[in-house]
Amino acid sequence: MSTTEETFSQTIISDRDHLTSKSQQEEEPGSSLHDPSGSRPGLNPYSSAEASPGSSAESSPGSSSGTNAAQSEEIHRIILQPSLNPDFPAHPEGKMDPEKRDAGGFASVAARVDFSSIATVVSRRTDRDVKRALDRAASREQLSFYDYCALISPAADSYLEAMAVAARDLTLQRFGNVIQLFAPLYLSNECNSHCTYCGFSVGNQIRRKTLSMEELDREADALYEQGIRHVLLLTGEDYRATPVEYLEKAALQIRDRFPSISIEVYPLKTPDYARLRKAGVDGLAVYQETYDPVRYKEVHLQGMKKRLEFRLNCPDRAGQAGIRKIAIGALLGLSDPASEVYMLGLHGRYLMHNFWQTQLSVSLPRLRQATGVSDLPEVRDREFVRYLLALRLFLPDAVITLSTRESPEFRDRMAGLCITQMSAGSKTDPGGYRISSEQDRAAEQFSIDDHRSIGVMRNRLKELGKDPIFLDWSSVLK
Ligand code: SF4
Repeated sequence: MSTTEETFSQTIISDRDHLTSKSQQEEEPGSSLHDPSGSRPGLNPYSSAEASPGSSAESSPGSSSGTNAAQSEEIHRIILQPSLNPDFPAHPEGKMDPEKRDAGGFASVAARVDFSSIATVVSRRTDRDVKRALDRAASREQLSFYDYCALISPAADSYLEAMAVAARDLTLQRFGNVIQLFAPLYLSNECNSHCTYCGFSVGNQIRRKTLSMEELDREADALYEQGIRHVLLLTGEDYRATPVEYLEKAALQIRDRFPSISIEVYPLKTPDYARLRKAGVDGLAVYQETYDPVRYKEVHLQGMKKRLEFRLNCPDRAGQAGIRKIAIGALLGLSDPASEVYMLGLHGRYLMHNFWQTQLSVSLPRLRQATGVSDLPEVRDREFVRYLLALRLFLPDAVITLSTRESPEFRDRMAGLCITQMSAGSKTDPGGYRISSEQDRAAEQFSIDDHRSIGVMRNRLKELGKDPIFLDWSSVLK
């Protein structure tokens, strides 16, 4: 066993007992098919999500639900061989085709997949499937969705060491020892949406704040002085408090200090992204939160965020506008985690297929405590590690980001395996870096676990043999 393997097994994973191997499961119907061309089955779980056609068919083929074994097999085949081609390109303004109720773009790709059936398909993967996926990864073949399902399945739990070694080697080959560091800069915590998992939700009685340009300057200086050159600007969803004009002004205000500016704000239209790109924005982060269409409705109760397809196609619109870096993610804890990880992989492959000029980043934040949020479900470390390693093997060229939501120990260990980008020294309240005194601090979006400063983080990564950088070299070429 190599040093990496020993370190991995002895230190990352402390909850070995809670998963069981599923080595004797049956073969998945349609598993011999690996052609990724896909087809149009005429299913739309997003428009008829409550019916959950796949799940009833799976549990009781030929039951009174009207679905039958053939339909169930077709639903599973689509999950194992999804098409990456949209029905038509996403509308630049996010409009739906009124007759077909089809938004095109990734929303049309996602609509073909029955989310409620993914967990069944994943759970049927066997030891043999995992070994085959690892063999393919070792020979640098592109993994199929069938392989990906195997790697995120419980069957892969027995192969975590081998996955870690393969992911480490792939990361080293594609990214070297480099870890990109960036910092979030919250412009505002004003929000008109009600999302049940977020401290900024409109119903929460918290201190609200939107930075003035002078305040933004001070926050930007604080980060610049600590070496940060890639900054992520964030807001809530308040189109009046932080309109596109405000975002444009903010980017122009700080572009002299930050060669790389990303935004994580409310979904915009293609012309708005083009406008912000001219102002210096080169990256977009938009996390779907949950790809489960039923759960999406349950946790997004008010505001623009209720518009599922508008959000699903947000990365398409940024790609159309020529935004160079696109980050997507799923918030683990809202729905079945393996199904979310599957959909994130599908979304990633879709973007690489349709917007090959953009650099893809993926992330899997785990739900954290926030104002008004309690009783959070837990995605345990061992399971979480499996998902991150599977993502690396499935998306070898994607930047994988790990935020300060995770503990210092966990971040240190994952940096060597598959993570290539980290936030550092994060404050999740507007004005948190410099302008706020303790008494008048605005509310945080969520609590963080890694409180190390940017300098401490940089030194720690060096101790670990990593090469922390503050600027993605390619951003100077934009
Ligand atoms: S997740 Fe975003 S849109 Fe939802 S309440 Fe929080 S800031 Fe607002």
